[in-house]
Amino acid sequence: MIKKILIANRGEIAVRIIRACKEMGIKTVAIYSTADKEALHVQLADEAICVGGPKAKDSYLNMANIISAASLTGCDAIHPGFGFLSENSKFARLVERCQMTFIGPNPDVIDKMGNKSEARKIMQKAKVPVVPGSKGVVHNAAEGVKIAAQIGFPVLIKASNGGGGKGMRTSYSEDDFEDAFYTAKAEAKANFGDDDVYIEKLLLNPKHVEVQILADKHGNVIHLFERDCSVQRRKQKMIEESPCFFLNNDVKENMYQDAIKACKSVKYDSVGTIEFLVDQNQDYYFIEMNTRIQVEHPVSEMVTNVDIIKNQIRIASGLELQLKQEDIKLLGYSMECRINAEDIDRDFAPSPGKITFMNLPGGKGVRIDSSTYVGYEIPPFYDSMILKLITFAPTRLECIRKMRGALEELIIEGVKTNIEYQYMILHSPLFISGNYNIGFIEELQKEVVKSEKRISRKKDEAQNI
Ligand code: ADP
Repeated sequence: MIKKILIANRGEIAVRIIRACKEMGIKTVAIYSTADKEALHVQLADEAICVGGPKAKDSYLNMANIISAASLTGCDAIHPGFGFLSENSKFARLVERCQMTFIGPNPDVIDKMGNKSEARKIMQKAKVPVVPGSKGVVHNAAEGVKIAAQIGFPVLIKASNGGGGKGMRTSYSEDDFEDAFYTAKAEAKANFGDDDVYIEKLLLNPKHVEVQILADKHGNVIHLFERDCSVQRRKQKMIEESPCFFLNNDVKENMYQDAIKACKSVKYDSVGTIEFLVDQNQDYYFIEMNTRIQVEHPVSEMVTNVDIIKNQIRIASGLELQLKQEDIKLLGYSMECRINAEDIDRDFAPSPGKITFMNLPGGKGVRIDSSTYVGYEIPPFYDSMILKLITFAPTRLECIRKMRGALEELIIEGVKTNIEYQYMILHSPLFISGNYNIGFIEELQKEVVKSEKRISRKKDEAQNI
């Protein structure tokens, strides 16, 4: 069994991993950049070690320094969290070459499933439906435009190694194809170091639904149901919920079985997520696999009472899953609001700075996974997510009401946040209906602009009386 883990990450996910380790009696080592000296994860871990300057490439992506920190402190495993090095097979191999355990799948699986165009091929072979698209990487615009015409416009040009919605461009016709193609390639190169892209048909306003998987090194694979992550702004998730309210149970069951089949076909051996898009006919298509823990994992934990991080650590230690599929019961309803330090009036621009006051909600079924405290200075160098607010209730409506109440109690001062925006979403009739899709936020934004215009017209009228 693993005895001491270095956490190669920061923020709330580092805190989350430290908490799991404490419960398991495992020692922890935090790493931090010079900008993160005062961060919560640094204070909660048993030991902490600085690995470089503020820029991620100097610290949280600095493989040599991270490995040295782990061996200096006597760690026998490294947990990569999400983002940073979590889906980097080179790092996973390096960790293993240094006689430590990488808490994630084996590096060969990361290579296969972490590359989106490769993963599509593997899924097709396993007879899992994929979005219609190119057979693999598309090398130039001339080749691409032919493929796009065959599939039918509009299409999406996507980075093979992409993530976080980056390196993705829509093309509506042959006229804008070349531009979109080379912009996607350039963005892929700048963000992911290689410029491989592939093409997919753009599905019109589908739902994003994903299946949480637990797989061990002995061939056992189970699922923890699905999450609906369709509340997205610029392809970044904002609210996630489990289970998905809109899908019928037969479709869900097929989806779980396909997700398990997909994992078995590549001998997947960790926790992971299979992501699908679902159209209005409830037909679903694989888009990608995340070979790591995800931001939204708490909603699955709440509805099943399974600790996903603890399972991930046990699996990496080589232990067999203690849970069987029939042990996993859907206990209720859960949703998560991502609270970001950002200014919604300035196009959601990051709003770093010092937290001067904070009031956190509580009560039964309210969970907070946070990286902040009063007096903490949010650095400008990293992701703007500072807190995840999660609620759990027997029914969806109670869960929504609980989330509204929790958002009313949640006060963060000193920086701008998206709390009010989340509160507005929680009152939107479309959100409440559950039948929303990935176009939801854009629609909501239009409504907001319309009502702002209406208010200012009324004000003008009032002044003229
Ligand atoms: P990333 O890894 O960058 O997050 P994904 O492939 O997971 O990229 O897609 C992110 C989001 O982009 C999806 O949740 C969905 O909103 C949108 N998207 C991706 N592929 C398609 C598609 N073929 N048609 C329509 N929307 C898509």
